[in-house]
Amino acid sequence: MSHSKLKTQNSTLQQTLAADLEKLDSQGLKRSRRLLETPQGAHVRVDGRNYVAFCSNDYLGLASHPELIDAAREGAARYGVGAGASHLVLGHTKAHHDLEEALAGFVGLPRALLFSTGYMANVGVVTALVGRGDAVFADRLNHASLNDAALLARAELKRYAHLDLGALQRQLAASTARRKLIVTDAVFSMDGDLADVPGLLRLCQRHDAWLLLDDAHGFGVLGRGGRGTLAHFDASSPRVIYMATLGKAAGVFGAFVAGEPDLVEMLMQRARPYVYTTATPPLLAHALARSLELIEHEEWRRERLRALVEALRRRFEPKRWQLGASTTAIQPLLIGGNEEALAVSSALAGEGLLVPAIRPPTVPRGTARLRISLSAAHEVADVERLARVLANLQ
Ligand code: PMP
Repeated sequence: MSHSKLKTQNSTLQQTLAADLEKLDSQGLKRSRRLLETPQGAHVRVDGRNYVAFCSNDYLGLASHPELIDAAREGAARYGVGAGASHLVLGHTKAHHDLEEALAGFVGLPRALLFSTGYMANVGVVTALVGRGDAVFADRLNHASLNDAALLARAELKRYAHLDLGALQRQLAASTARRKLIVTDAVFSMDGDLADVPGLLRLCQRHDAWLLLDDAHGFGVLGRGGRGTLAHFDASSPRVIYMATLGKAAGVFGAFVAGEPDLVEMLMQRARPYVYTTATPPLLAHALARSLELIEHEEWRRERLRALVEALRRRFEPKRWQLGASTTAIQPLLIGGNEEALAVSSALAGEGLLVPAIRPPTVPRGTARLRISLSAAHEVADVERLARVLANLQ
């Protein structure tokens, strides 16, 4: 086929792509990336300028901790850089294995399995455990990976209004599905509020369902020693499938799923994003073992975080915009319109403060917001400055 023919064949796709991009732009939904020139942290250099950033999930300020950098170096020296194979072939190193045991012990569950990312863990769990004829019950504000997982599993996806356990109870009671799996963020990623874990577990018991608890934003932050949202509620159940990520509070990369031995064994056998992918670099597992010790023993990081949340909520005066009802490191400033959220975000950037504008489809339409995320690496003065500048913008 001649080159010019190939060109005309492509053109419909090219034209529709251009139109779609144009539409995203005109709706204030086009995204762009900034260039981070320093390690992740509270004080960063971006596109040649210094900022105080409220953008990361590095809640404990561990992402560039010198001891973790040393541990990563040591891990590289011991195991090399790449795992070179999947876990089930020959990529499962002693560093991965020791970390799985440490993570299971830390969260108080019988066994844990590492995944490359939280996204992959959620897809892996849901697709391994449910399929056609089964049902997934999901909070409307869950992370996208949980919804994608249910669609990929081809299970029936039932979404219930945010935190509405009455609605969930009715859906469960009406369901004739063979297997029932409730999936929820433990700490909601764009709202910072908490799922009622004990209430969910009672529903699991009553309706013979399982609970996949996605603790991406609670692990390291909530509960005794940062053990996460189950510890926060002092909750436990053999019906729980606990998932947490290791690229947020833990400051590194990856995720794990923990629960009953047979559950974890089945995931190891059947979770496709576990089986069919290269193991993460062992140096990361080596660094994560050190991170787990810092999480457990450096209580001051969680205390600092609590003080920052309190300072922000005390200093912020709601006029035009409101802070959502959150007690966690995720503090959403609800704005509404996409363009206005972008304008506030860029006005803050003009003052040297980076706060991302979060727009649909990440959040429901009409609820665009600034997602202020706090980190133990911030000073109280950083938060006070943010509250002051926001007061002037309202
Ligand atoms: N679950 C939730 C609730 C999240 O917020 C995220 C990350 N934004 C993930 C899962 C995915 O985790 P990862 O970044 O490790 O893929």
